[in-house]
Amino acid sequence: MLPVCPACLGKETAQYNSPVACYLCRRCGHRWRAAAEIPFTQQHDYYAQLRGRNMIADSACNRKMTDRLNDLTPLLHDGMRILEIGCAEGELGRRIKAIANVEYTGIELSEDALVAMRWLDHVSRHAAAALEDGPYDLILSFHVLEHIPDIHAELGHWSRLLKPSGKLVVEVPNEAGHPLLSWDANAEHIHQFTMTSLSELLHQAGFSIQQLTSGHFESAVYSDSLRAQAYLRTDAQTRRNQLIAKFKTTFPDKFVIYGIGGDFNNYVAPLLLELSAAALVDTDTTRHGVRMAGYRIEAFNPVKFTGLPILVTSLRYQTEIRAALQEQGVPSHTIYGLDAIFG
Ligand SMILES: [Zn+2]
Repeated sequence: MLPVCPACLGKETAQYNSPVACYLCRRCGHRWRAAAEIPFTQQHDYYAQLRGRNMIADSACNRKMTDRLNDLTPLLHDGMRILEIGCAEGELGRRIKAIANVEYTGIELSEDALVAMRWLDHVSRHAAAALEDGPYDLILSFHVLEHIPDIHAELGHWSRLLKPSGKLVVEVPNEAGHPLLSWDANAEHIHQFTMTSLSELLHQAGFSIQQLTSGHFESAVYSDSLRAQAYLRTDAQTRRNQLIAKFKTTFPDKFVIYGIGGDFNNYVAPLLLELSAAALVDTDTTRHGVRMAGYRIEAFNPVKFTGLPILVTSLRYQTEIRAALQEQGVPSHTIYGLDAIFG
């Protein structure tokens, strides 16, 4: 009986015997080795005895790190906790810690962990399943997943270690971008991913994909890799609560809402009863006096609202409203747009 696809869990699979026994999913294109073909790489201490896992020329290493940091730098913020699964000798972590004040934990089974300990805050030589030190704001994994037999179970461990608002960045070789990957003789590589199979795996494991790109450089022979940025999928109520929490972080005390039109109705009004709005304000005099959720829409009064932050909810007129407020003496740093909440 043929196994189900480890990525999409589909049953439309077929067996091939060239060059090694492997399976192919006709649904998502995922290809994986039969268990009989992978015994030595799955022995308990196989990876533990290896070293120099990331030994490539400096120019190639710089190209790889630059490619990764291009995507990762916008995700970094001071104080965040990062976990890199398969950190090798810790070069990526070393570069990230040079540009942001983060707590960086690496998992590395091989002896390269001893080098990584020089740069990173914590290094574990046990797999993610054994790690209890969560949750993390950001989990990174570059060219690790293709080495792991049960990729679905592995992603379960990653999701357990990720904060509900956290992000996962995972990269694997791209089957479509490697002329020989279908015949990959590297016995460590159990899985060959397609864009569809990586998407399906992440979806089945409870993640939502925010970005999926190809063409990422790992080395001269794996020069086209797939990279996904994903977050944990949450239900509608949880996402609503996260949005309200964002409002309360941005506006801890009273604030004024300016622009009571369509954007307000769509993106703010459904939450209004749970926000600490001081007033609803609009430029249009025909709206003044209209009642809404216990408020009465009014004109902006710079004396009455002195010192209160202002959320401008009109996407179309935000530039004009912001300019008018500044003309009335409102400091620009107290004027916010919807991007402060949704951005
Ligand atoms: Zn599949």
